[in-house]
Amino acid sequence: MKSYFIFIFSITITFCSVDSDRSNLSDDKIISNEEISNESTSATPNAEDNSTISNLDNRKIIYFIAESVSNEHQEMLKEWVAISEELYFTQPNVVIENLYPIYLVQLDRNNPESALALEPVYCEFLEEEHKKLFIWDGYDSSRCGDNEDAREEYERNGLFVEPNGGVAHSQISSIPQRDGYNLFVSKTHDLPMHASSMGYVTLHEMFHIFQTSHYSTDSYDEQRMLNGRFSGDNPEDDVPWWNEGTAVYFSYIDYARTINDMSWFKDEMYCTLLCERDRYGNKSRLEIFKESGIKLNNITFSGNPEIIDKQIAYEIGAWFVAYLVNEHGEDKILDIYSLYEEFGFEKSFEIQFGKDYRTYLEEFYEFLDLSEDQIMGILLSK
Ligand SMILES: [Zn+2]
Repeated sequence: MKSYFIFIFSITITFCSVDSDRSNLSDDKIISNEEISNESTSATPNAEDNSTISNLDNRKIIYFIAESVSNEHQEMLKEWVAISEELYFTQPNVVIENLYPIYLVQLDRNNPESALALEPVYCEFLEEEHKKLFIWDGYDSSRCGDNEDAREEYERNGLFVEPNGGVAHSQISSIPQRDGYNLFVSKTHDLPMHASSMGYVTLHEMFHIFQTSHYSTDSYDEQRMLNGRFSGDNPEDDVPWWNEGTAVYFSYIDYARTINDMSWFKDEMYCTLLCERDRYGNKSRLEIFKESGIKLNNITFSGNPEIIDKQIAYEIGAWFVAYLVNEHGEDKILDIYSLYEEFGFEKSFEIQFGKDYRTYLEEFYEFLDLSEDQIMGILLSK
C-alpha cells in the first residue's frame, strides 16, 4: 500500500471550554449517521486531545484523535486515508478545492469519554479557524456554533457522542461548499477482528467526500437532489440506495484490490446479500428484501416497514452497482457525478447507462431471482 503521507507534525491544541455550545445549522447534517459494520460498543474513561496535520501540496488533513485511540488504529486510519486519496481524489473530474481541508476526527468506539473530551478541542479549533465577523460561517453552521440552530442540532444528534451516550458513528458531517471544510468522523473498529472495517469504512467515507466535491451548490437539499436521494416513488423520501450503494460497492472492491485478495470482495458481497442474520430472523437480506416486496429506491434512511432497514438499501444498492458495472464498467459510475449539475440525477443516469433507473431496477430484481452462482458470476475478479 502506498503511503504518501508525509508531513506529520503534531500540534497540540489545548483548551477546554467544557461543554459549551455545540450544534449546528439548519439544513445541514450531510450524510446521515451510518453504521456500516456490525459491532458493539462499551465504555471506558479518559480523554484528551491530540491532533496532527498532514499537508501535501495544500491537501490539508487535520487529525483530531481521541486520547484512547491506539497507535495501531491511527496508523491504519492514515494509511487508508492516503489510499483513498490516491484512488478517488485523483479521478479526472474531481473538484480538488472541495476536497480539502479535511478535519478527521478519530473516535474510540469503546470510549465515549474520550470522544466527549475531544468536542471542546475541536470546537475551539473550528472557532479559531472559521469564525468570521458578521457572516454565517463554517463555525456557525457546525454543531459547535453559538446559535439556536446549532444548539438544537447538537441536542438532536450530539457531535462526537450521541445523545444516548454512544460514540458517534462514522460519517461525513459537513457541506464543504458552505462550511469551507470536510468533517469526517471516524469510529474505530476492534482489532484484529475488524481490521478490514478500518479499511473499507475509511474508503466509504472518503468516497462520499469525492462525490460531494463535484457540486457547486452549498444547499444540502440541492446536493441530496443531485445525488439521487429523492428518487423513491414518494419524492419527499430520503433514500440511500444509489448514493450509498456506490460508496459501499467501491469501498468493498477497492479494499479487496488494495489487500490484493479479490476473494475478500466476493465473500463480502456474497454474505452481505445471502448470509442469514439474527437481526432479520435468521434470513438473509435478499430474502427479507424479496418477501417485503419493497422497491430498492423506496427504502428510506429511517421509517421503513418493520424489519426493513437502511442497511438493506446500502448493501443491495451495492449489488445494483455491481450489476451496472458488469454491463458498463466502473468509470461510468465514477464519471456520473460531473454530469449531475447540468442534467440532474435521472437524466445523468440515462446518459451513462442507456435506460432510466426505474427500468434498470426492474431488470435488476429479475437478476436477483437467478441462482446464487449466476448472481455471484457478475462480480469483477480484479
Ligand atoms: Zn455512506
